[in-house]
Amino acid sequence: METVGRFAPSPSGRLHLGNLLCALLVWLSARQKDGRVLLRVEDLDTARCPRRYSEQMERDLQWLGLDWDIGPGRDNGTGPYYQSQRTEIYQAALETLREKGLVYPCFCTRAEIHAASAPHREDGQVVYAGTCRHLTAAEIAEKSRNRAPALRLITPEERWGFTDGHMGRYEENLAADCGDFLLRRSDGMFAYQLAVVVDDAAMGVTEVVRGADLLDSTPRQLYLYHLLGLTPPVFYHFPLLLTAEGRRLSKRDGAVGLDSLQDRLPPEEILGRLAFLARFNPSAAPKTAAELLADFAWEKVPRQDIRIPAGLFC
Ligand SMILES: [Zn+2]
Repeated sequence: METVGRFAPSPSGRLHLGNLLCALLVWLSARQKDGRVLLRVEDLDTARCPRRYSEQMERDLQWLGLDWDIGPGRDNGTGPYYQSQRTEIYQAALETLREKGLVYPCFCTRAEIHAASAPHREDGQVVYAGTCRHLTAAEIAEKSRNRAPALRLITPEERWGFTDGHMGRYEENLAADCGDFLLRRSDGMFAYQLAVVVDDAAMGVTEVVRGADLLDSTPRQLYLYHLLGLTPPVFYHFPLLLTAEGRRLSKRDGAVGLDSLQDRLPPEEILGRLAFLARFNPSAAPKTAAELLADFAWEKVPRQDIRIPAGLFC
């Protein structure tokens, strides 16, 4: 079967080094198998992800030499590739889950969820306590008068897991470790978990390469694949890039953003140093994406988070 990898960022600003590493790994992992690359813009939060950022991102990827075969400007019949244009498709999947009796409205405020929830997970997410799971029809009607509900999926007391292509075995108990999770927010925005599953399946993605911060989303997504009767892709989660001080990268770290890097470094300098950080370029020597194809192997990439040494990109 042909490999289709995908890069699916949420452009809420210029790309930073963490996004670039993702784009590079997606591209290398697919191209090394003579596969195709798909680009999808995860702009469900349209206020945070205006179109000018995604258009800039498309120019930036081309500047870096990370091309795509399917996506904006290259529709192979599986588009549109902007999630903001796919809400009817997500609605249809939601109806499928609703017909199975697995969806219920949740009227909890954020404060109520935190007050009623089980102890927080390590990553700061809370396990929803199921407060609204057993509301009666009358209670739902009453609450609906004051507040639009979010929609949640009932999760089973079952272990769901998978073997990641890079990180190895990962599994969790959906009810105990995750809880009934959101499918649609109270403001009508579809949840990432639902949209990403529906899109990857509809777009023929066979290989998902993404940061290790999404490792614990994967059991939920596999459960959705199962419920929707879809075939899941294989997954490769890669370690996160951290600042020299060990913090997660953010847009506040100006020096790691492409707007700053682009003024100082040509694309092969940026890619060569990124590949050096991820240990598949033996030195920080400049290399194009095409040149890195010969060097790349998942076995070389570390599993622990990677600190960017001060000075490497300055
Ligand atoms: Zn609730």
